[in-house]
Amino acid sequence: MARRIALGKFQRNSGDELICTICGNALVRRTRTMHDGTIVKMGYQDCGCAGFKAAFQEILTEETRKHNDRIAEMRRRRIENLIRQSGLGERFRNRTFEAFVAETEWQKSALQAAQEFCLQMIDGKFNVPGLLLSGSVGTGKTHLAAAITITMAEDGCPVIFGTAASLLSKIRRGWTDESEAQVIDEMCDCPLLVIDDLGKEYSKKTDGWSWAQEQFFQIINTRYENYRPMILTTNFSMEQLTRAMGDAIVSRLVECCRGVRCDGEDWRMKKWQTIEKGV
Ligand SMILES: [Zn+2]
Repeated sequence: MARRIALGKFQRNSGDELICTICGNALVRRTRTMHDGTIVKMGYQDCGCAGFKAAFQEILTEETRKHNDRIAEMRRRRIENLIRQSGLGERFRNRTFEAFVAETEWQKSALQAAQEFCLQMIDGKFNVPGLLLSGSVGTGKTHLAAAITITMAEDGCPVIFGTAASLLSKIRRGWTDESEAQVIDEMCDCPLLVIDDLGKEYSKKTDGWSWAQEQFFQIINTRYENYRPMILTTNFSMEQLTRAMGDAIVSRLVECCRGVRCDGEDWRMKKWQTIEKGV
């Protein structure tokens, strides 16, 4: 491409020759003789003068720069698409790890756990445990969940992010023109699922499971069985979460997620504490 553009340094004279505008020499036509003896014109040999070489180099450098810019732009658009498709709202776009202010020891270790999770995923480790970030309002759980979403999308990983309530309503009405089953499949298959604010959306039935429980059990269980990680945040204590969602769901989460507290509240669940210590 660059060589062809460099031919802009040449002018065609009346005899259909190309003349180098720098050294003034005519260029030699390249030809090729075919099997049947016909001669096909194959472009020109360049004149090889220093001026041409310098001009050619300049164009080549410019072409390389444009090429790199195009690659960077494609990457930027791909990341932008992944973030848009993740469902991460506009207001969360700047909730990066860099912007996270870790004031307490709990927040510092939560930040570290979130960053470790991303590093392991980016390293392509198999069966990376997800995170269940718990704590009261304003402790930064959602910020960390958004930062994980952004970091993973920037690494090219498709992510689905949503509040538990919004994910459920997406299932209810289908996502764009997809059916309920397709939406659930996507939530089961997506390399990373981030569920913000787990627990609130339940209207627990006195007997049997609520519709919401059924949906979540299917998604969480499928992901659990296929080693696909989840990031979850909740304001609920372990007891509240178990009451709201049922043992089956919470015990799956305990098995496949590290419990990470963003405040000092004690969850008083022995198994979870063991997992937190990395056992
Ligand atoms: Zn020349």
